[in-house]
Amino acid sequence: MDPSPYPPVERGPHNHIGVAPSTYKGVLYRSMLEARVARWVDMHFPVWLYESGPNLLGIESARTLDGLFYGYQLDVGRYRPDFWLPSVRTFLEVKGDMGCHTLARPIELARRAAPQGIQVIVVTRGKGVRFDLYAPCGRDLVPATFARCSACGSRYFHAGGPTDCRACGVASFTGGLSSAPPKEESR
Ligand SMILES: [Zn+2]
Repeated sequence: MDPSPYPPVERGPHNHIGVAPSTYKGVLYRSMLEARVARWVDMHFPVWLYESGPNLLGIESARTLDGLFYGYQLDVGRYRPDFWLPSVRTFLEVKGDMGCHTLARPIELARRAAPQGIQVIVVTRGKGVRFDLYAPCGRDLVPATFARCSACGSRYFHAGGPTDCRACGVASFTGGLSSAPPKEESR
């Protein structure tokens, strides 16, 4: 892969809570980890949105009058997921800290949006430059994998259940699914 369209993440100074807001392609992200995930999704998905999301059936969206998205009104509180990948109907929630109190929102969104074919994937630090992926399953998290469809070439996330490509719907499992954790590509 030609890395030139994907410039390096620029780490900013640590703030008072010990997090370093960092820049990727001129956009400031709340942490170095979020900026790294932005670069990674930029490499693998044609369209992605940061801190935004679509209207969902049965879940109220909080928006300003001009449409700026504030999040979904869940029973556990308002929640704005970090990334929305429309081609595979997937939200990504980036977590530097996997404390269970911080997971109530993505777990509730996953449960309520599942009937609409939407999934929520929690992304956290793995070894080295890798990410670890989890999917809410009931009240628990199960490991998820980063798959590539051998029919359409799309990347998608798989966590138990059917392995059909979330982009094209083809069940083209062979050769496509990697159990290796996703790796941030080198520069
Ligand atoms: Zn496909």
